[in-house]
Amino acid sequence: MNVSPVAAPIAAQAPSRPTVGVLALQGDVSEHVAALEHCGAEPVLVRRASELAAVDALVLPGGESTAISKLLEVFDLLEPLRARLREGMPAFGSCAGMILLASEVLDTRPDAQHLFGIDMTVRRNAFGRQVDSFEVDLAFHGLDDGPMRAVFIRAPWVERAGADVEVLATVPDGPFAGRIVAVRQGNVVATAFHPEVTGDLRVHEMFVDLVRAA
Ligand code: GLN
Repeated sequence: MNVSPVAAPIAAQAPSRPTVGVLALQGDVSEHVAALEHCGAEPVLVRRASELAAVDALVLPGGESTAISKLLEVFDLLEPLRARLREGMPAFGSCAGMILLASEVLDTRPDAQHLFGIDMTVRRNAFGRQVDSFEVDLAFHGLDDGPMRAVFIRAPWVERAGADVEVLATVPDGPFAGRIVAVRQGNVVATAFHPEVTGDLRVHEMFVDLVRAA
């Protein structure tokens, strides 16, 4: 007689703990590390290609995009990072990270490099000198439990979002009403503001969920 194997009982599945790199060349690395830890990911610092090769996803922090661009070249990370993004690695960039993920950047240095992670044109330091930094409560698409406090520090905005780019947030009112400040294309997310500094970790949670699903 044929006895079919008895299925093993299904263990209660703990959510997986994906390894998420934080590009650690310059910028607010430790804030992202803390946020990722809190969201159940395993954060690791990425400074070399071997470290990049070992992560499931990458966060590009806020900082100075032209400095990070230069360091990407110095550390031989530019082409490996472009390649991983082409292959579909999930990524999240805040502020300078958004600039780096763009396919085109306005008002940057002519020698600054970017990563073509999202089909968008980003204007660097777009909000201008008079308003170096500001905060606003905005609605973030897909995060339904209330508005999000968004902190902008010499922030960029998205001047053109490609046809496959989903707009996740815009400035709600004031002189910059309607400006695009958060986007997603596939598994790549970018915000012009800094969710890593407010204690509201919903963007990081959403990103870690996206990494788990990828
Ligand atoms: N203005 C910076 C740049 O051009 C970005 C600022 C930030 O990341 N807070 O890279």
